[in-house]
Amino acid sequence: MNVTVGTTVGATAVAGISELVTNDPAHGGVLGIVRDAALVVADGRIVWVGPAARLPAVDRFIDVGGRAVLPGFVDSHTHLVFAGDRGAEFEARMSGVPYDGGGIATTVSATRQAPDDALRALLSRRVRDAAAQGTTTLEVKSGYGLDVAGETRALRLGGEVTSETTFLGAHVVPPGSTREDFVRLVCGEMLRACAPLARWIDVFCEPLSPHAFDADEAREVLTAGASAGLGLRVHANQLGAGPGVRLAVELGAASADHCSYLTDDDVDALADASGALPASAGPGSTARGSAVPGSPGRGSAVLAAGAGTVATLLPAAEFATRAPYPDARRLLDAGVTVALATDCNPGTAYTVSMPFVIALAVRELGMTPAEAVWSATAGGARALRRGDIGVVAVGARADLAVLDAPTHVHLAYRPGMPIAHRLDLPNDATLIDPTLSDPTLSDPPLTDPTLIDPTLSDPPLTDPTMKEPHR
Ligand SMILES: [Zn+2]
Repeated sequence: MNVTVGTTVGATAVAGISELVTNDPAHGGVLGIVRDAALVVADGRIVWVGPAARLPAVDRFIDVGGRAVLPGFVDSHTHLVFAGDRGAEFEARMSGVPYDGGGIATTVSATRQAPDDALRALLSRRVRDAAAQGTTTLEVKSGYGLDVAGETRALRLGGEVTSETTFLGAHVVPPGSTREDFVRLVCGEMLRACAPLARWIDVFCEPLSPHAFDADEAREVLTAGASAGLGLRVHANQLGAGPGVRLAVELGAASADHCSYLTDDDVDALADASGALPASAGPGSTARGSAVPGSPGRGSAVLAAGAGTVATLLPAAEFATRAPYPDARRLLDAGVTVALATDCNPGTAYTVSMPFVIALAVRELGMTPAEAVWSATAGGARALRRGDIGVVAVGARADLAVLDAPTHVHLAYRPGMPIAHRLDLPNDATLIDPTLSDPTLSDPPLTDPTLIDPTLSDPPLTDPTMKEPHR
């Protein structure tokens, strides 16, 4: 690309990228990979992407030393606002006790008892841990308050770290409430208090759990949320084949989450719903799409956010409940758009590690490394209906991750290794070499650790928020 950066003032180049995952279909393949790449960031946005040899002159420069760079992970499903420990419940499950959603009440009790500052500190630590492993966007749900004060508090705290907050009053029916009374509360007073603090509403639709909600109750909750201006998400088909996925598609939810047990009708419904998503909507959708309307082409446009319903898979939950994994291969082959997320929660998936989820998806869900990385970045962005993240293209947010590895394959190839980090672009980026004329900068073998900027392997986590400044 022979694009000149309009103004270099304040622009920072990132070079020495062995493999740049763009997720921009203009670059071809599942991940739109550009090798020996560079990019330029100004004012928090990407303003140039291309081969390092054509990097325009800029006034600041960082060299990532032959590492892979990719869009930061988009973790589109978490329950980060909680207190308490359910290690004993996990231990019991590993001894054969099945999961039915009942342990959520344990977390509700611990969370209600925690002071604001304690909850805030726990949340901040989890956000830091996520960023340290390459996550740049987090969705955060309420759902451990289950009364008006507790749910509004969770959303206020969540809103301090992300703009992607989700009202999950309909998580479980709390002890002491009847189902009818609780659904009425969620759809009435609780929704009125929570809607101004949330972007989304979610419901645990699981008729097989005595604690969660059936199809009629879930429909009532989602319909009320939509009337209050919230986007829809559904915990669907986690414990068995049920009505959740088809309800999500019928009501136009952005995402049906879990999808562990699916009938052929469910898969067909999700495939049809993926047709409403923009082109490039992932490896499973390539047959359905064409170029993004209005896109001028290579590396030059933020992708359309689209509508449609994404299938969000949460394999850390199957890992921690010793349940059968969802079949991503079946979904992708049917043309369904798939996202991957952590489901971080204290009962069934106590991890914020997207690299762990990617490794599980490759080993246990039938995904290729490229498909899994797409789903953990662009797929998550689709699940949040965001076109400005999950992609490295001109106009996108400069939300980036860097790997201590030459390719994205290492995320699954080296499970448990701490190789992924959020790439923070310091304002005082060192001027290493403004010309990048030395071709060896493009492919150093990572054998000399003294070439490595220590800030890359120890990200400065001074800002624990992932909140957008201008939303
Ligand atoms: Zn969940």
